[in-house]
Amino acid sequence: VSLPIHDAVLGRAAEWGDAPALVDGTGEFTLTYGQVDAFHRRVAAGLAEAGVRKGDVLALHSPNTVLFPVAFYAATRAGASVTTVHPLATPEEFAKQLRDSSARWIVTVSPLLPAARAAAELAGGVEEIFVCDQAPEGEGIRSLQSFLASTGPVPEPPIDPDEDVAALPYSSGTTGVPKGVMLTHTSIATNLTQLAPLVPMGPGDRILAVLPFFHIYGLTALVNAPLRHGATVVVLPRFDLDTFLGAIQKHRINGLYVAPPIILALAKHPAVADYDLSSLKYIVSSAAPLDAALAEACSARLGLPPVRQAYGMTELSPGTHVTPLDAPNPPPGTVGKLLPSTELRILSLDDPAKDAAPGEAGEVAIRGPQVMKGYLGRPDATAAMIDDDGWVHTGDIGRVDADGWLFVVDRVKELIKYKGFQVAPAELEALLLTHEGVADAAVIGVTDAEGTETPKAFVVRQPSAPGLTAEDVMAHVAARVAPYKKVRGVEFVESIPRAVSGKILRRELRNRA
Ligand code: ATP
Ligand code: MG
Repeated sequence: VSLPIHDAVLGRAAEWGDAPALVDGTGEFTLTYGQVDAFHRRVAAGLAEAGVRKGDVLALHSPNTVLFPVAFYAATRAGASVTTVHPLATPEEFAKQLRDSSARWIVTVSPLLPAARAAAELAGGVEEIFVCDQAPEGEGIRSLQSFLASTGPVPEPPIDPDEDVAALPYSSGTTGVPKGVMLTHTSIATNLTQLAPLVPMGPGDRILAVLPFFHIYGLTALVNAPLRHGATVVVLPRFDLDTFLGAIQKHRINGLYVAPPIILALAKHPAVADYDLSSLKYIVSSAAPLDAALAEACSARLGLPPVRQAYGMTELSPGTHVTPLDAPNPPPGTVGKLLPSTELRILSLDDPAKDAAPGEAGEVAIRGPQVMKGYLGRPDATAAMIDDDGWVHTGDIGRVDADGWLFVVDRVKELIKYKGFQVAPAELEALLLTHEGVADAAVIGVTDAEGTETPKAFVVRQPSAPGLTAEDVMAHVAARVAPYKKVRGVEFVESIPRAVSGKILRRELRNRA
């Protein structure tokens, strides 16, 4: 039976009444399951009184806080679609999203109020801005907390879970302009059901939430999944290694859902040794390529079972593959096995109408109930992504081994074409990170004077290796790859530009090169 997302997630919240649902990892504040359940209904009533109607779009513009989920479920219960906004978006970027999504309402936090106001001014069409923390005095802004006193009826708009859009996240914009991804109540709720038996959570589990809730990976793994199963979510607003490690120690965290840069820090940073991380039982990584050797270094250092990878994309609500927590020996580097009721094809890179030979790499195509409804207002982009038979062409290159484990090689668009050979930047990046003088690295294709595309590396030196040279780096790679994959240029940089989800922002590197 399909349910609206708030009912699918909070169906047992009343039963778990006094158990902690959300804990502020930087303070002492806790919301119990009973409070999340009661509060989101009151806030839904307040939103309805303020004029929020079924089909309205509400922009949720906030870093991770314990009230973010309350605002989210209140809005969907009032019948709105929630478009989540990057808390650091500039007013121009935010305004673009408001206009594109025709958002009529904004929920923000008081420190971000100036940006939200500027965006609303630029975009037009916004009826009211609310804050979900304390409203600053004398600014005429209403706080969602004031709605807790609302006595109006809890709205019961006629929601069709299979058709109505619950979440409207924007794709990361790694490869093009960000697009609004229409995810129905059913597609999000179904993905939770598909994931649940493989990455189980339950009462007593404590999950640390540092990946952003506005991204579909955070919303699924750190909000919807744990709250559906009675776990406790310890919330951090941003990543800072010491705060993160301190929170694991203090809150006796047992599950981490992170992106590769955090695996890098856990594997290499000296500060890790200063904390008691013995409560940890498992780590899941997703959203960007993770090198097998790095994953192994991380789990070995912490004395944990292998890091579990999952794979997905915003357009797939987001999961299609996950490495089950109880799989004893997943092969190194795998992103997991196909979820139930999901279909996979690996399309030939030479002829996309055909399947690649078994075991060979090709474009990953997916079909299943978690496929998005489409891109908002972009039928052409939707048709380019979902073919007539319902297959999503992910743009990622992958291969499946004989036991059904998927390995993601890289994105089709990122492949460097060196004299007719194809080079995957992710493979070279992984290799660069195995050099002990390298703290971080990224690879892009640059076109040389003869018009040949060649791999160029951007490298951050380890503080312990100030003398590392371009020749050292190139020789390290050359000794380990076929000649056509050699890195043919190195630039040392202070840091690698990354999105919050851990993805390397190659566009920025290309502009720099
Ligand atoms: P845009 O589509 O706007 O360019 P994006 O694709 O980066 O942005 P997301 O939906 O956040 O936006 O990311 C999905 C992509 O992340 C996948 O297509 C894949 O390239 C990458 N990805 C996700 N999980 C993994 C993983 N475990 N290993 C490698 N890559 C991954
Ligand atoms: Mg994408």
